[in-house]
Amino acid sequence: MTDRVTEENTNPGSPSAGQGAKRYLITSALPYANGQKHIGHLAGAYIPADIYVRYLRAQKRDVAFVCGSDEHGTAIPIQAMKEGTTPQAIIDKYHKQIRQNFADLSISFDVYDRTSNPIHHETAQEFFTYLNDRGELEVKESEQYYDEEAKTFLADRYIKGTCPNCGFEGAFGDQCEKCGTSLSPDELINPVSTLSGKPPVKRSTKHWYLPLNRHEEWLRNWILNEHKDDWKSNVVGQCKSWIDAGLQPRAVTRDLDWGIKVPLPDAEGKVLYVWFDAPIGYISATKQWAQNTGNDWKPYWLDKETKLVHFIGKDNIVFHCIIFPVMLKLHGYVLPDNVPANEFMNLEGDKMSTSRNWKLDMQDYIDDFLKKENGGPQLADSLRYYLTTILPETKDSEFTWKGFQDAVNGELVAVFANFFNRTFVLMHKLTGGKVPKFHNDIADEKDRELMAEIKAAKSRVESLIEEYKFRDALFEVIDLARKGNKYMQEKEPWIKAKKLTDEGEQMRAQAEIDNCLHLCLQLCANLAIFINPFLPNTAKKMCHLMKVVDKMLDWENGGSLKLLSVGYSLRAPELLFRKIEDSEVQYQVDKLKTGLEKSKMEQEKNAAGSMQSTVGSLQTTDESQPQMQNIKPQIVYDDFDKLDLRIGTILAAEKVQKADKLLKLEVDLGFEKRVIVSGIAQHFSTEELVDKQVIVVANLAPRKMRGIESQGMILTAEEPGGKLILVNPNQLAQNGSNVK
Ligand SMILES: [Zn+2]
Repeated sequence: MTDRVTEENTNPGSPSAGQGAKRYLITSALPYANGQKHIGHLAGAYIPADIYVRYLRAQKRDVAFVCGSDEHGTAIPIQAMKEGTTPQAIIDKYHKQIRQNFADLSISFDVYDRTSNPIHHETAQEFFTYLNDRGELEVKESEQYYDEEAKTFLADRYIKGTCPNCGFEGAFGDQCEKCGTSLSPDELINPVSTLSGKPPVKRSTKHWYLPLNRHEEWLRNWILNEHKDDWKSNVVGQCKSWIDAGLQPRAVTRDLDWGIKVPLPDAEGKVLYVWFDAPIGYISATKQWAQNTGNDWKPYWLDKETKLVHFIGKDNIVFHCIIFPVMLKLHGYVLPDNVPANEFMNLEGDKMSTSRNWKLDMQDYIDDFLKKENGGPQLADSLRYYLTTILPETKDSEFTWKGFQDAVNGELVAVFANFFNRTFVLMHKLTGGKVPKFHNDIADEKDRELMAEIKAAKSRVESLIEEYKFRDALFEVIDLARKGNKYMQEKEPWIKAKKLTDEGEQMRAQAEIDNCLHLCLQLCANLAIFINPFLPNTAKKMCHLMKVVDKMLDWENGGSLKLLSVGYSLRAPELLFRKIEDSEVQYQVDKLKTGLEKSKMEQEKNAAGSMQSTVGSLQTTDESQPQMQNIKPQIVYDDFDKLDLRIGTILAAEKVQKADKLLKLEVDLGFEKRVIVSGIAQHFSTEELVDKQVIVVANLAPRKMRGIESQGMILTAEEPGGKLILVNPNQLAQNGSNVK
């Protein structure tokens, strides 16, 4: 473990490290409310911010942690089109879901607002007016694509054409989803409007621009000189390449009907560009928070003694380090003290992608692990733990299910929880369930070493968190638990317990046991304090078992060796975490692969349908086709053709141990024999199945059930009452025959 803890204090440049500002305003990137958010997002901007904020709160600092849904921009109406509903329904659905996901994973925002909030519309319009009135914006006419049939200017996303880079015919006006190249609509070959399917024409339109070029010199000095040491090198590096390339005026308005209206009489049909209004969302969220809590929002944005920190992913650096600071400066607001942007997190060897369905959504994890019977809120901490150990702080990192299992079982359970549990078990066995006395007269070198470690850990964790090195900070905490295990191993209180019956050594043995467990218990209390910013549910549970109030978790208590008073009786031991089983890992990996297949099929299906029909679905949402009861959505022949159905004969059948529903079948497909695990044990006896012919889905991805790999599936018919009947040919057929 120690090799993962890099050298401390490599960054003495941070002016505010250790000192503390008068107040803190912490923001996490506003999630775009056009769909579910995955754990890559979670690790990028939310878990790090939450760790930092919980740490500040434990230090009793004045802190506001704000976030909210970003609900404007063209992707919202486009998602509405895809789901056959309205933009309002889309933002309502995803805002609610994302907010709940964060709550379930213990992200402790003080406010989770939304940019459709009227406060935000007012704030963003005021911001625009403020800049415009002072001549800080420029107005320019330009030629843009217009759809004559739909009578509207076309946002980049509404234009499709051939990618000049890879030749893909379905590239969008802002990006080719096939090769990933960023595009402008002018680069597309044979552009067409996705609204009418017709080629668009160029028309002149007027827009307002933020002339970033005017602020180049100031930015260069502010970022590349003033922050070259305390900002992450990846952040400074990206800013430098932007500035070196020369900054251009950037349009802050666009022709669209979904968004915040431009507050000017001659701007009919124009809204604020989403990148302009979204970061202002931090300000409006702060206002909403102030309104909710009776605070004053102004000092958080106007007083120079506020420390503003934006937590974001690397795709957002330019907005938070260049564009938004220019806006803030022009309006006289505080500037970010730091923008600790993270790199990306990959998943099982590949980039996470919503369109390819290669991802783990927060919702999926919550569904699979957070139900009470699966472990409840503790399992939120298991995910928080693993994600923190692989935070992409300096380079891209990778989530694997095996890695998740190893981190939880090998570190959380085997090191951290094990120390806590052992201490509690031994205390109940050897010191009557009470905190024993510490006998100073027999304290030895090992005791003193451990005491020093506890005190030193506090300042190490502290400075690492202040430097935004959350992985290393967490490793320090786990390392401290590891030192506790080592100490206990060396002290061997269970060996000394054998001497308790020996009259001559009894006193000394008990005193040594007391000292060991006294120190281990004080260490447990310290571990609760140190783990609290990272794993808040765990810290709470530890407090409960130690019968102390949550106030013990105040950071100032860290390092103290008098947290639990002598003679105090503690609760019976309980496991802090459960292990992650092999079958869970297998299930998740299979699910990921199945999801990828499914999305490939959907994409092929979509490619087959015309662009017209996609648009058509927007207009016909209210008169959608009546659905026949219980019939699944229609598929095309190609979907059916993907199934490989074969005739097979069951050679043998046996019950699967400890699974009352499962049978293990050996099936002869003519060209090969397969093992198939089938959930039909309650409907058939093993004897009646042998020698029966069945229809087998022969190309189903193998899946492990109860440790047995099932290589396919057999078909049954289910009667309305739930009774199963085997489906087989009505006369003997040759094994391996195709079923079509
Ligand atoms: Zn391309």
